[in-house]
Amino acid sequence: MKKIFLLFITVFFMQNFMAQTTYILCGKLLDTKSGEIATKKTIIVKENKIYKVMDGYVSPKSVTAITIDLKDKVVMAGLIDFHVHIEQEFDRNTRLNSYVLNEADVAFNSVGFAKTTLLNGFTTVRDLGGSGVNISIRNAINAGKIPGPRVFTAGKSLATTGGHADPTNGSSRKLIGNPGPKEGVVNSVDDAKKAVRQRYKNGADCIKITATGGVLSVAKSGDNPQFTIEEIKAICKTANDYGMYVAAHAHGDEGMRRAIIGGVKTIEHGTYMSSETMELMKKHDAYLVPTITAGKEVEEKAKIPGFYPDIVVPKALAVGPQIQDTFAKAYKKGVGIAFGTDAGVFKHGNNGKEFGFMVEAGMPAMEAIQSATITNAMLLKMENEIGQIQSGFFADIIAVDEDPTKNIATMEKVVFVMKNGKVYKDEK
Ligand SMILES: [Zn+2]
Repeated sequence: MKKIFLLFITVFFMQNFMAQTTYILCGKLLDTKSGEIATKKTIIVKENKIYKVMDGYVSPKSVTAITIDLKDKVVMAGLIDFHVHIEQEFDRNTRLNSYVLNEADVAFNSVGFAKTTLLNGFTTVRDLGGSGVNISIRNAINAGKIPGPRVFTAGKSLATTGGHADPTNGSSRKLIGNPGPKEGVVNSVDDAKKAVRQRYKNGADCIKITATGGVLSVAKSGDNPQFTIEEIKAICKTANDYGMYVAAHAHGDEGMRRAIIGGVKTIEHGTYMSSETMELMKKHDAYLVPTITAGKEVEEKAKIPGFYPDIVVPKALAVGPQIQDTFAKAYKKGVGIAFGTDAGVFKHGNNGKEFGFMVEAGMPAMEAIQSATITNAMLLKMENEIGQIQSGFFADIIAVDEDPTKNIATMEKVVFVMKNGKVYKDEK
């Protein structure tokens, strides 16, 4: 009996002794909830959670606790990007790569992209489409096998035949085959339901549809509607059965209108959104994911001869410059904004540039940061777990050199990254 008691006591002490405790001394602490920046605070992290936030600089009592000095930094919650493609990074060879790379090659590339994303302060991302390797990447990150952000992925995007995410677009007819719901290509209400259920079976967290044409697909139109409203409704209703919501890529107004009425939660890009559709967004509580950085990138790269296929160039030159203007109008009109960049269309790790573009278009810096933290956390139904530095939340904590409300470019140079209580970057 005595032995058992001693063993119990030993185990109890070892567990508490071994629970790693970290004291983070914050010169400035940005509170995403109140939009205020406090000075001289200490965050106490135990294992993977925030245990407490205290006033002043507090020294640990235990000799095993670690202290991290961020007294000359601005500390905030880890950022959430609502639109990335973790499997891909667009370059001249992207079209060729879709024929020559095997899944393992894609996976090895993604490992680097995931790490870069995390090291730039994005501790959570929503991945909006790839080949399905994105699901394995998410699992590997969650299992602690590779460093990366928390990933919520759509797996393979859903398109219609010849639509923006039809995987055989622009291929030789010898290679086209007949992709169907399993491959994410739908052409009826029944196909739509089957495709959603297939994504669920594959392990996706959400559904992405390409409601209109897109810039980088090898197809003529960048903005035509590509789903019927009945198909969109079937997708949203089926997704809802499985606890998933739907994100819609959309440049053209008609496709956007159908998507919102059909039950889509986030509109990606929103390039040619009319005032009426902005009102519809508000009425249906749908959010715009701006992806301004991607718009700037395609506009710039379209000017380099041969960078994109010829059919893509006029679309990139038309859509690219429009995205930021539409964001400015939508923000002014009071449309909900969910921070998202489309990283993968440009280099992973440059996600922080989006903040500057949002501010340039008229959104205050604090609101841009809130859209990348509390808004996206709420849309993920994780508002009590991520997006804030509060006791009980996951210890996703980052730091920058300057006050972002005075210099938003500081968001492009994240100097400290902790995710789930583990430090991944400390550049002091
Ligand atoms: Zn995208």
